[in-house]
Amino acid sequence: MTTRPNIDIDSAGRHAARWGLRGARGQPVEVRELGSYADRNFAVTEAGGDRYVLKFAAIDEPRGVLELQDAALAWLAERPSAAVVPRVRPTEAGERLVEVEDARGRPTLARALTWVAGELWIDLPRRRHTSALRRSLGAALGQLARDLEGFEHPAMRRSFRWNLVEADWIAEHLGALRAVDDPRVDAVLDALLQFRGRVLPRLGELPHQVIHGDANDQNIVVAGESVCGLFDLGDMCWAPTVCDLAIALAYVGMGGSDDRTLAPEDAIDACAQATAGFHARRPLGAIERDLLFDLVRARLAVSVVSSTLARAAEPNNAYVGSSERAAWTLLDSLTVVGRARFDAALASACDLPAPARGGTTRDQLLARRRERIGPSLSLSYTDPLYIRRGEGCYLFDEHDHAFLDCVNNVCHVGHCHPTVVEAGARQMARLNTNTRYLHEGILDYADRLCATLPDPLEVVFLVCSGSEANELALRLARDFTGGHDVAVIAGAYHGNTGALVDLSSYKFDGPGGRGRQPWVHLVPTPDPYRGAHGDDGPAYAVAIDDAAAAASERGGQLAAFLAESMLGCAGQIDPATGFLAAAFERARAAGAVCIADEVQVGFGRVGDAMWAFEAHDVVPDILTLGKPIANGHPVGAVVTTRAIAERLGNRTAAGGMEYFNTFGGNPVSCAVASAVLEVIDAEGLMTNARETGQRLLAGVRHLALHDPGIGDVRGRGLFLGVELVRDRDSKAPDPERAAAVIDYARRRGVLISVDGPHHNVLKVKPPLCFGAREADILLHIIHRALLATHRQPRAQPTG
Ligand code: PMP
Repeated sequence: MTTRPNIDIDSAGRHAARWGLRGARGQPVEVRELGSYADRNFAVTEAGGDRYVLKFAAIDEPRGVLELQDAALAWLAERPSAAVVPRVRPTEAGERLVEVEDARGRPTLARALTWVAGELWIDLPRRRHTSALRRSLGAALGQLARDLEGFEHPAMRRSFRWNLVEADWIAEHLGALRAVDDPRVDAVLDALLQFRGRVLPRLGELPHQVIHGDANDQNIVVAGESVCGLFDLGDMCWAPTVCDLAIALAYVGMGGSDDRTLAPEDAIDACAQATAGFHARRPLGAIERDLLFDLVRARLAVSVVSSTLARAAEPNNAYVGSSERAAWTLLDSLTVVGRARFDAALASACDLPAPARGGTTRDQLLARRRERIGPSLSLSYTDPLYIRRGEGCYLFDEHDHAFLDCVNNVCHVGHCHPTVVEAGARQMARLNTNTRYLHEGILDYADRLCATLPDPLEVVFLVCSGSEANELALRLARDFTGGHDVAVIAGAYHGNTGALVDLSSYKFDGPGGRGRQPWVHLVPTPDPYRGAHGDDGPAYAVAIDDAAAAASERGGQLAAFLAESMLGCAGQIDPATGFLAAAFERARAAGAVCIADEVQVGFGRVGDAMWAFEAHDVVPDILTLGKPIANGHPVGAVVTTRAIAERLGNRTAAGGMEYFNTFGGNPVSCAVASAVLEVIDAEGLMTNARETGQRLLAGVRHLALHDPGIGDVRGRGLFLGVELVRDRDSKAPDPERAAAVIDYARRRGVLISVDGPHHNVLKVKPPLCFGAREADILLHIIHRALLATHRQPRAQPTG
């Protein structure tokens, strides 16, 4: 919050003398106060009729910011833009910026600028908004951009809420839009998503310079059909050049003082005309044009959220001003018309080739897929997405529309992370062959991986998928123990091969499943929320003894206890306290080995530790890895003890069966997997998983206070589950509502999914670069989806 100086008209008049501003024949100079927000401005008219603005800065305004403006005005005084910006009038002593005291003895920095005569843009009626005037505004801003090129100042890099590159601060305040109707909130959310997804990653590619920063309709002065003044450099800063145009367009599209709203198509034409004026003076590059639509909407989103917050801070002044209404309407209009139409209008106004259109449609792809691909492979959503690129936490459809990815735990360090892509491409261009030659790639990776693991886990096998890893783990366990049977957790999923389907009750007890094989023994899901023993982990582990007994009854022996350290398909479950430790102990007592399947949850996802087993104070005998290990490149790994590794293939001194995997451990896979470990470390992704996860958990738990349909909120780091129920007492699952929430979010650009045996658990497991802003967006969408799908309390049965 800034502090306005206390300066009244009389004292302004007295201060004016310092600048030699005096009234006629000893009369006081004529002074009038101008409206302003943080500072105080006075119009001062000299005896000769010349007018100036005497400006007293906010008490806490840093001197550097004023010096920046002063230096910029001095720079511009010798360039064509001198015609539109004010000039500085120094004091009689030659100072351009002087410190004076306000009525309360506080220092404020004062300066005098020449008056820019004309009408304010905001006061012009609709009929005055001609194409020529809009072009002239664009031209004035384009000229200003050219003139400011090369100007630099120590104070130009500034962080503040109206700096357009920081627009995403609004993510934290979406809750303030409670009273706003759905489509309008959706428009803000979409503006924010596109800004985070499309604009922020490409900021570095945009030309930057010092810009005006606030060409709003109260800072633009008009004479006839042209712009003759641009004042108020208070938001001047180092930013992408195109931001100046984007900010102006957010007002150009609003219409005149008499109507303040334009029809959507007219608003777009208005923006296109101003852009053409800008482009003629300062040609826009392809990326600048591509991001302009998103930048205009980001500015509007900041405007509407700011006004909403300002009104919330002043509840007695709940009046929605015409500018606020106009900003909402324009944001709405732009959202309805869409980027393609906006870009086409721009191209046409600027005499540029029309942006490429057409290409393959979703329907065509769907038809081809039905023709060629096995029907057992399902698509997400009834209205499937056509995703063409990914970056960070965002996926982009055929219109390059960004979607927030809250479920892809494979692209672990972010979609197409440049370090990973570069490592893979470099190695692919050099060598890719099998592991029967010596190569340092596999060794460097194995060393690096083992450095993250506790001691006995020291021998590595590289494979190509999570399923291959679990298959190999099964062979290792059987060869080492001589047993055949396996104990697994009810509801779990371990892979797509024949043996692993038999080990996954998620599959064998699910649709199309053939039921449990005699060599497979189920341990009840150690689910603290629904399980028979609540959070009493050891109580579930007793079933391991039953499994061992059943195995010997069959004349066999338990070879392994295979368990995810946190359960994914079973419903995002963190096993009941003490379960894994007790189960491992009982399994080992029965002569079995313990396999931790961390295909889903490994590599720092749980936040507190690199591996979820660490969070449960156990160390497995065999660890299986996959999915996130190489950010989407097909890699899996098994890490085990030397003793177990040495028995694979029933090796003896004279030899045994070889294990060879054609692709496993090839130099490209190892380069990619190494890059993933490097990025996790370099970008502090484990810490981010912990902090963002806590923010999400706290946020959803807060929602649960007001929504009895949230039965349970659980998880660690960025592996979370929200279980929806019809009522908390019966815990009756609510899969319909879960499906509706997913669909609601998808329609608004947020991708989450559902799992669990009852299909009622919202699952969240995004790439680990998912930050606080993404968390806020996700929380907001879950909140609104829950409101939209709220069930009325069921009527009490009568009679
Ligand atoms: N284990 C777990 C826990 C999994 O979630 C999965 C995949 N969903 C697998 C194993 C199998 O991995 P993949 O699909 O790479 O074969």
